[in-house]
Amino acid sequence: MPVQYKDYYQILGVPRNATDEEIKKAFRRLARQYHPDVAKNKREAEEKFKEINEAYEVLSDPVKRKRYDALGTDWKAGQEFTPPPGWEPFEHEFIRWGDFNGRGAGFEFHFGGTGFSDFFEQLFGSMARAGASPRFGRTVSEEEPVETRGRDIEGDIMVTLEEVLRGSIRTVTVHRNVACTDCAGTGIKRGRPCNTCSGTGTVKKTDTFKVKIPPGVAEGQRLRVAGRGEAGLEGHTAGDLYLRVRFARHPDFEVHGQDLIYETDLAPWEAVLGTTISVPTLSGQVTIKVPPGTQTGQKLRIRGHGLPNREGKKGDLIVVVRVQVPDRVTDRERALWEQLAKESRFNPRQ
Ligand SMILES: [Zn+2]
Repeated sequence: MPVQYKDYYQILGVPRNATDEEIKKAFRRLARQYHPDVAKNKREAEEKFKEINEAYEVLSDPVKRKRYDALGTDWKAGQEFTPPPGWEPFEHEFIRWGDFNGRGAGFEFHFGGTGFSDFFEQLFGSMARAGASPRFGRTVSEEEPVETRGRDIEGDIMVTLEEVLRGSIRTVTVHRNVACTDCAGTGIKRGRPCNTCSGTGTVKKTDTFKVKIPPGVAEGQRLRVAGRGEAGLEGHTAGDLYLRVRFARHPDFEVHGQDLIYETDLAPWEAVLGTTISVPTLSGQVTIKVPPGTQTGQKLRIRGHGLPNREGKKGDLIVVVRVQVPDRVTDRERALWEQLAKESRFNPRQ
């Protein structure tokens, strides 16, 4: 399958030798700008947001970045990309699934505006899925033999943390091959190759429909969309579509189970004396107290501001603080620090 090369550095607007910190900053800035919740042109922003996420997924991961960099610098964005010789091809799970059902592979399946690009899938698909559960929870109707019921198909859907909190309705476009109705998928009509499908037994079809993302979905969870899989033969039930949830990276939060991690910095005097600071949550800013004597790495827990589970029970937001020291001081500040150094009996090495 020919795919288009993606220039992930160009997408994030960073040079090829950018540091991890520069990549993170660029991602945060763009992810805020194009977040589907805030952008004016929603459709355009969603595409852009997806692209930014994909670029960050690759460039923030040393293994993926190395694999991507190994492609070299000669590729141009949008150029037709063929993996170099010896490149491990990515085997799509839905094709394996088809094999599992015994109906042969080789059908085409894409998503518009949901998961990662075909380019990404070709380079990292098997890596990206390495952590996912290999269990294929297909339910086969007892009355219907597997051979006539349509195959199930699956794909990824990228979900923002805000959608995990509130749920959403998404438009999904699926291009797939379905059984040709003229010849009931046999490829033969009145003893001759079927004209409609050129004897292949399948025809291309594009479906656009709405899918409900319920609040509390989990990373890797499969959402079943009944009847949106491959068409069944001879009027039998269509297979189901399974959408595997993939969380989009958030500019502010890391996800740990249902908890969200937010890192922030404190001035030395704030850590010593205590203070109140404003921190973002998925539903706006909240103010929290930083107790006196707070150490670098200390975690402040804000209950109930994490991600919900299916029952609506929410995790926590965990604020991890780091004490930062000023890299420049005025003469007056230096004098004050010197005075403090003389008077303080604090010895961190004792
Ligand atoms: Zn046909």
